[in-house]
Amino acid sequence: MSAPACGAGRAARKGRGRATMDIDKLAKRFQNCPCGRKHESGVRAVHIAPGIVRDAGRLLKDGGFPRNILLVADENTVAAAKGIFPALNGFSVRERIYKDKREPFMEDVDEIVRLSDGRDGILSVGSGTLNDICRLAAFRSGKAFAIFATAPSMDGFASKDAPIVKDGFKLSYPAAQPSVIIGDSEILARAPVRLKSAGFGDMMGKYTALVDWQAARLLTGEYLCRNVYDMTFEAAERIFRMADGVTRDDPETAGHITECLILTGMGMAFTGNSRPASGTEHIVSHFWDITRLAAGEQPDFHGLQVGVATLLISRLYNGAARFERAARVKERTDWDKVYAVYGARAGDIRRANSPSVMDEILPGAIEKRWGEIRGHIKRYLDTDAIEAAMRAAGCPTDIAGIGITPRLCEAATEYHPYMRRRMTLARAMKAIEFA
Ligand SMILES: [Zn+2]
Ligand SMILES: [Zn+2]
Repeated sequence: MSAPACGAGRAARKGRGRATMDIDKLAKRFQNCPCGRKHESGVRAVHIAPGIVRDAGRLLKDGGFPRNILLVADENTVAAAKGIFPALNGFSVRERIYKDKREPFMEDVDEIVRLSDGRDGILSVGSGTLNDICRLAAFRSGKAFAIFATAPSMDGFASKDAPIVKDGFKLSYPAAQPSVIIGDSEILARAPVRLKSAGFGDMMGKYTALVDWQAARLLTGEYLCRNVYDMTFEAAERIFRMADGVTRDDPETAGHITECLILTGMGMAFTGNSRPASGTEHIVSHFWDITRLAAGEQPDFHGLQVGVATLLISRLYNGAARFERAARVKERTDWDKVYAVYGARAGDIRRANSPSVMDEILPGAIEKRWGEIRGHIKRYLDTDAIEAAMRAAGCPTDIAGIGITPRLCEAATEYHPYMRRRMTLARAMKAIEFA
């Protein structure tokens, strides 16, 4: 694939780890997109460079961010973002500093909405969970929103959706895009190794996500923007090539990776759904999340789970790709068993599956399109190569490394496709016979 992608939106580098993204150039690339859709982004400025924590206040002001703000962080991210408070000289700052915020609960969102009363903007200092809480709170309260990133740990920075846990179920809610994203590449490079590896794992999920996107297009005629698709693929490839540098304290690698993570989030905002960045491997990870949360356990980092799930799905898909022919057969789903597995959530699962997404499969599509789907699997899913890169990047590559039991792994592999109303190859495989 030849799209300039990741590098397309980058202005000239002036120093080590500097990668201030040229948003105008990116917008231009997506103007009059051949897919026919309008691709819009609310992100006005992205700054990634070494030492720019001291410029945070100025960069926010330049980006039109208000000065009367609520700053949301936890003790870890405040310690990481040393220098952020002096940099906000001239701002009126109310703070909400959590002790250690690992999961985003709806109660947190409600609290931030309340605390933002009388403030004009919400500044999220952190990555992942803290961003998601603020993203939804900013959307619901109509406040300006900005991110000071502290770890290259996931690809949600520029996203328009926030996965939030409500009543024990993790769902994605429409949320606010940040108008300004700032990442000090020295801080990003010093992030805990597991968080940096998590960002890498999250990006490996793009390979299976893109196969699922193609499968949905081929089987149901679902919309796919080639431009966004190429940008996501290039971002994944670029990160893949940086595997060796992930665990090092290297601002340049951390800056590049953060930039690619931001671009992937932009891709989701451009298509208006999470197709470019999230396929069935993300649903597996969400399955693990809800099961562990229900058991009172703390799930591992999102990106680490996604990485392991990517390997599982890559093996599953490659197993199918050994066969030359595929035919649609009667669905092999024992619904009573499915509802039993989801327990108290059975009602949600029932709703997510009625009508069934399988009804959207076009007549004869499985038989006619299998060759192309198989081609995408062979092209994108080299399980050994992905596994080797993950190992180099410090990612766990098996379920033991993320605290998942074989039993939970089996349940996730078998039952995750029913959790969302979304066509994935894993979902379609419930009604395919291979030969
Ligand atoms: Zn497009
Ligand atoms: Zn993810």
